[in-house]
Amino acid sequence: MEKELKCKLLKKCGGCQIHNLTYEKQLEFKMKKVVRLMGRFHHVEDIIGMENPYHYRNKVQAAFGRDRNNRIISGVYQSSTHKIVPVDSCLLEDEKADEIIVTIRKLLKSFKLKPFDDVKMTGFLRHVLIKRGFSSGEVMVVLVTGEEAFKSKRSFINALLGRHPEITTIVQNINSRRTSLVLGEKSIVLYGDGVIREQLCGYTFTISPKAFYQINPIQTEVLYNKAMEFAQIDNSDIVIDAYCGTGTIGIIASKYAKRVIGVELNKDAVNDARKNAKLNDIKNIDFVCADAGRYMVDIAEQGLPADVVIMDPPRAGSDVKFLKSVIKLNPRKVVYISCNPETCARDVLFLLKNKYKVRKIQPVDMFPHTEHVECVVLLSK
Ligand code: SAH
Repeated sequence: MEKELKCKLLKKCGGCQIHNLTYEKQLEFKMKKVVRLMGRFHHVEDIIGMENPYHYRNKVQAAFGRDRNNRIISGVYQSSTHKIVPVDSCLLEDEKADEIIVTIRKLLKSFKLKPFDDVKMTGFLRHVLIKRGFSSGEVMVVLVTGEEAFKSKRSFINALLGRHPEITTIVQNINSRRTSLVLGEKSIVLYGDGVIREQLCGYTFTISPKAFYQINPIQTEVLYNKAMEFAQIDNSDIVIDAYCGTGTIGIIASKYAKRVIGVELNKDAVNDARKNAKLNDIKNIDFVCADAGRYMVDIAEQGLPADVVIMDPPRAGSDVKFLKSVIKLNPRKVVYISCNPETCARDVLFLLKNKYKVRKIQPVDMFPHTEHVECVVLLSK
């Protein structure tokens, strides 16, 4: 690895909990955490780290406001407070995205547009969200505004595109409510087609402003390749991709499987998943918009077959309803992808008590400098 870089905003921002450790020590820290929580189930493989653990985030968000001297600032909310820490560049974030945010801040001033004041609930720009396709190079800018009226909209967009011709789409999202959520309900496409495309494991995926997409593209490939290696799917297998988001894992699995069913709660993500299947001309995959646990209960009751279950739940993990149905469905293998080893250990324990055994545990560092660690766990009967 090249030289270790150090952040000057470490204490103020609070986003990087273990940045004070060298990268090597960070990997040791994460390894220990996984061994502590899951070492009793099986030997834990060495964590796969990044060669260059900086600027890996393909999704960057900045809040806009004013400092004490009334100057416009943009940055991140200090952990557990509502104060904005001004940030111009971050060691985790995509550098181009950071540059665009600084440009937007400067443009606000010259266009006499106001940042949003979330105490008075007045003003214009609340947040900027940028998503960048790591391999496609496409860039989406989402301007989250407190009101729909956008003074000098055309000239503002032209000025932004003039300075950053790499931007491929601009979306205005309106969020006028008192909320800590960044995005509101309504979006208006101002330039381009409102989405970006990205290539992953040989497939193309559409990413919309709201749908979940993994934030570290390099490690996502590592993670998904591990999941496929563990799953060893064959062409007679029916595969369930539970908590499938925009269908990435299921689409990658489809080339090995007889049939894949993706299950996801978020309506927007399911729409994206269906579009992604079409975009890649995949015919042996279907997506169901439902609670994963509920859906598993239904198919278990109907006695439908499932040979491999791949599950990638959010931080809270899965639930008993889901896990009980896994037992009932009786798949040959379960591949559990987890972003939280605590809930993963809890769920794995449930499966262990019901005839499954852990065969492999592979941690992957998806989020360098933060305390988070991702794992792929293989279980079989
Ligand atoms: N496998 C995808 C997404 C993983 S993130 C990927 O790698 O890109 C977890 C996903 O679970 C999110 O898309 C979230 O919307 C979905 N989710 C959360 N609770 C759910 C539930 N009860 N049932 C189905 N999906 C759920």
